[in-house]
Amino acid sequence: MKVTDPASRRDGAVADILVEDGAIRAVGQRIDAKDAEIIDGEGRLHAAPGLVDMHVHLRDPGFPDKEDILSGCRAAAAGGVTSLLCMPNTKPAVDTPETVRYILDKAANADAHVYVAAAITKGLGDAAELCDFQALREAGACAFSNDGRPVVDSRKMAQAMRAAAELGVPVVSHCEDLYLSAGGLMNEGAVSRALGVPGVPAAAEDCGTAREIALAAAYGVPVHICHVSTKTSVALIRDARRRGVQVTGETAPHYFALTDEELRDRDADKRMSPPLRTEEDRLTVIEALRDGTLQAIATDHAPHTPQEKADFAKAPNGSIGMETSLAAGITFLVKPGLLTMTELIRLMSTSPARLLGLHAGTLAEGAPADVVVFDPDEVWTVDPDSLHGKSRNAVFKGRELTGRVKATICGGRFVWREGV
Ligand SMILES: [Zn+2]
Ligand SMILES: [Zn+2]
Repeated sequence: MKVTDPASRRDGAVADILVEDGAIRAVGQRIDAKDAEIIDGEGRLHAAPGLVDMHVHLRDPGFPDKEDILSGCRAAAAGGVTSLLCMPNTKPAVDTPETVRYILDKAANADAHVYVAAAITKGLGDAAELCDFQALREAGACAFSNDGRPVVDSRKMAQAMRAAAELGVPVVSHCEDLYLSAGGLMNEGAVSRALGVPGVPAAAEDCGTAREIALAAAYGVPVHICHVSTKTSVALIRDARRRGVQVTGETAPHYFALTDEELRDRDADKRMSPPLRTEEDRLTVIEALRDGTLQAIATDHAPHTPQEKADFAKAPNGSIGMETSLAAGITFLVKPGLLTMTELIRLMSTSPARLLGLHAGTLAEGAPADVVVFDPDEVWTVDPDSLHGKSRNAVFKGRELTGRVKATICGGRFVWREGV
């Protein structure tokens, strides 16, 4: 098996991996292990640390028709994701220790390690008071975020960032000026004008990014920017990092793979927030992944039922992505020679694990046995009906992708296996 593990400087050289009692026991040439079950990669398959997806909506508690913790983790397993951070916009929102514990208890038997981002404000409300960060942290929360309901009150956001920094827990911020984006269904630009559809200007995202950077700089605290999609947000983050501001960022596969041209067929499955942008934005996002301005690729896996997605104008934002993220990375970044496989795995596993402070994202001896095994050359077509979560709103549906997950091992247990 070719082994790619950026944390141990393995760049795809053939090696064996021995897993024992839920941990990586050894990685090396021709390991002898009596009675071990063997996956033979035949020089064709790659193994890498299981993917770490730091932006996922599991919809549980509250929206079992869309997804629940167990079904969401089945989708994760099929996509090679072994650790995920779930967002707090559930019902109730994740604003109490009880809800954090509910998710963690239910996830104990799931097919992926689940980490919880708790809400910044009670009920994700803008006028509401801050949650009790200390209590949420003690219950197991690993990050704080209001995701799609950004904190409009900048004073309150500053207070949240400082409180989270004191606890050493990241704030992950969905950047959106809600006044600028109000009523918009897709990126504001030539395509939205041609279609006569109300747009969301890039400035809505950029104003949010600029504010978070200003607060991080003013108070000397870190902030992580979610799903970056615009060229100006990339420029703001790049500049801030050069100035020593503690800002990190992620993007999602659809922003480096697709543009607003996709919306010409008025298919609500391709509507999300922030929206698919222009070719110039797409190319800038790729450049940001290449030069280290953005450190992670996360999916913003956002399940919605076919009924909810039926009407282009009324459908809620979001697309599912955990079962296609690795293939999208290989197809749009590795195959065209924009990133090496090692760089892709760093963005999808090593680096997000580090950003969240997780014991994951490495195949070093003694690490948890979280492994993805994939065929980087297998070509397949994304059929939403053969995916494994509850919803079908896949942004890459019908598309031919290269790279297929063949097995996923989570905590030493096979949670996904197909033909190996
Ligand atoms: Zn968001
Ligand atoms: Zn989200």
